[in-house]
Amino acid sequence: MPLTVIKFPNEILRNKLPEFDFSNPVVDPKTLETDMLETMYLHDGIGLSANQVGVSTRVFVMGHSTVPENSQAYFNPIIIANTDDIEDIEEGCLSFPGLYVKVKRPTAIKARWQNSSGEWQEGEFKGYDCKCFLHELDHLEGIVFKDRVSTLKWALAVKKSQPKRRRK
Ligand SMILES: [Zn+2]
Repeated sequence: MPLTVIKFPNEILRNKLPEFDFSNPVVDPKTLETDMLETMYLHDGIGLSANQVGVSTRVFVMGHSTVPENSQAYFNPIIIANTDDIEDIEEGCLSFPGLYVKVKRPTAIKARWQNSSGEWQEGEFKGYDCKCFLHELDHLEGIVFKDRVSTLKWALAVKKSQPKRRRK
């Protein structure tokens, strides 16, 4: 069942989320994974965090609707290594519809997380997957991409996102 996507500046997007406890789950992890993926596909997203759908626990989903077998939930994610190299690529966010801004992030990371069965997994991410992983991890800390850019850069992105006024 698709969930409602919470938009900025809702306060829930500012909360640092608690660990997901598989021995005492706040929600069924499989159901949450299915619902969050469905919501992400519905809005053409490539990532979605739990607080964006009003659930306060450390999990996000990531992936592509065209290759659903590669899409999954990442519970309690941790970064274990990252490159010093930085990339400055454009990002969007389902909580900021129509707004795109370039954000500097490491080019590659190594991470650990639990899948929806509670099993620990490990993997490496680069390019857009890396960027997406870090964007979603930020959400779990109550950080949004607006916090990662200068006030001027943000103001320009907001201006660009607004429909152009017709000149007389
Ligand atoms: Zn986002």
